[in-house]
Amino acid sequence: MSSLRMPWTTTGTASMQAESRILNFDYCGNCHGKCRACLLSEEERKRDVPFLNQKQLGAAVTAAARLLPRSEFLAIGVGRGNTLTLRENSVDDIAFLASRVRDELTFDRGILEVSTSLVGRLEDQIERANEIEARVEETSGLETRFVVVINPALSSEGYWRLLCDFFEAMEQRRSPHSEAPGDIAVVNLSADTLPEPSAFAHRMAGWHFPVNVAWVGGVDEGVAGWNAIDQVGRWFADFYEESVRLGLDCSLVSRAQNALVASESGGGLSTLQDMADAVSESLVFVDHVGRVHRGAFTLLGDMDPMRFPLGGKEVSVAPMLRNRSCRACPYLAACVHAGGAHLFTANALAMEGSSPVCMTGLKPVFEKADLY
Ligand code: SF4
Repeated sequence: MSSLRMPWTTTGTASMQAESRILNFDYCGNCHGKCRACLLSEEERKRDVPFLNQKQLGAAVTAAARLLPRSEFLAIGVGRGNTLTLRENSVDDIAFLASRVRDELTFDRGILEVSTSLVGRLEDQIERANEIEARVEETSGLETRFVVVINPALSSEGYWRLLCDFFEAMEQRRSPHSEAPGDIAVVNLSADTLPEPSAFAHRMAGWHFPVNVAWVGGVDEGVAGWNAIDQVGRWFADFYEESVRLGLDCSLVSRAQNALVASESGGGLSTLQDMADAVSESLVFVDHVGRVHRGAFTLLGDMDPMRFPLGGKEVSVAPMLRNRSCRACPYLAACVHAGGAHLFTANALAMEGSSPVCMTGLKPVFEKADLY
């Protein structure tokens, strides 16, 4: 979800990946938003009680600790949905979760990343966010950042003013000495509501915090066929250029560049399958019923194998190697490093047939990363 998360920092070597990790909890469920590419069902979004209670959260932390050895940096994701509109006792749950993580996992720096769509009354959500941040700090000493999911289909001035008001309110109350006082924006992209890339990037000009692009064609209702994947790939390329021009901290840029560097150095991984396996080493998911399993940190967002059509936890690079477009692609290793095998698998399992062009939309991103 965020580039505060750094599994692919600097050289992206196996050792660097091992030092930064992510633990995601599918805790929330509730949200009154309507993103086209939402992974929650309508019934799940209508809930006003979270998926997981404190007993499940505590047990999951203990199980996750066995999969996550010492990290230099640990991002603890609390999602998915709008955590800021749950009932008030969710603050106790989140503070409890933070203190259990602090007690049971070993890391040098940890950040709790709490998801919100900001759909609802803004003042109430700012108040709740302040409450969560204060309680988490008090019980665990962890910093909190909010992961604001942006619906790019919404273009009204009122919507964008609301987003900016939230970010400003949060940043102002944090210490100016904080290493990263800003929050995290996640663009929840859908193929049939792509915003004009330049105008969209200008909406975010001046944001000094990560802007992450999340999209997997195979789970996007707006994808009507392989042409749509191609079209989104071209949107990525345009948005990449605008992000560079405006100095945005955009995940398309940072993660593609890191993957290119990592693939050139080999990152200590000798085969493409080793690279694909390493994508799952740094991320653990606790799903909506409390099951704990490895997920995948990809260039286009975190993937929970229980929610995505990955055909089980193990992702093989073999189908990519049989695909004509991938075999001829100069970015094959960088793509696999960046979770491309996972994205390829999810798209191939969800859609009919195959495509003669890039099946993830990532090739145009790597072409830009090669230039800038
Ligand atoms: S960028 Fe596209 S074409 Fe290249 S290896 Fe990845 S999925 Fe295949």
